[in-house]
Amino acid sequence: MWRHCWYFFRGKTPVIRGGCLQCGGCCRYITLMYEGKMIRSRWQFDRICKKDPVFRRFVVAENAFMKNLVFRCNLLSEEGTCLDYENRPQLCKDYPTRHMVYYGGAPSAHCGFYIAETTSFARILKKTIRANRKKERKGS
Ligand code: SF4
Ligand code: SF4
Repeated sequence: MWRHCWYFFRGKTPVIRGGCLQCGGCCRYITLMYEGKMIRSRWQFDRICKKDPVFRRFVVAENAFMKNLVFRCNLLSEEGTCLDYENRPQLCKDYPTRHMVYYGGAPSAHCGFYIAETTSFARILKKTIRANRKKERKGS
C-alpha cells in the first residue's frame, strides 16, 4: 500500500479517465484479488475456485507481476470480445479501479483508460480553512 501513502502525503487522489476501446487486453493479462488480498499462489487460487466458481474462467498465464499471479480469461473470444458479457463478474464491470492503482496496478499503454490525479477533498478543505483563518486574523 505504499502507493496509497504516496498519494495521501501529496494530498492527491488517483482518478480514472478515458474509456474502453474493447481491445480485450485486460482479459489477457489480469492480476486478481480475493477478499481484499492479491492472489499469489496456485494453491491459493485452487482453493478460491472451489469456493467461488466465478474464478474458474481464469487460468494462470504467468507466474508473477510484483509477486502476484497473472491470469488470462478463458471466455475471451479470438476477436477480443467477451463470450459471457451479460454474466461477466463484477471485477470485469468495475475495471479499472482506484483500488487497483493503490496496489501498484495501472491500465496498459494500449488501454483507453488512464490514471490522472486530483487534489483530495481533505487537502482542499484544509487549505480553505487555513485561508479563512488568515482572513479572519487580518480583519480583526
Ligand atoms: S485493456 Fe482497456 S481498452 Fe482494452 S478492453 Fe480492457 S479496459 Fe477496454
Ligand atoms: S469474463 Fe469477459 S470481460 Fe471478464 S475477463 Fe473474461 S472475457 Fe474479459
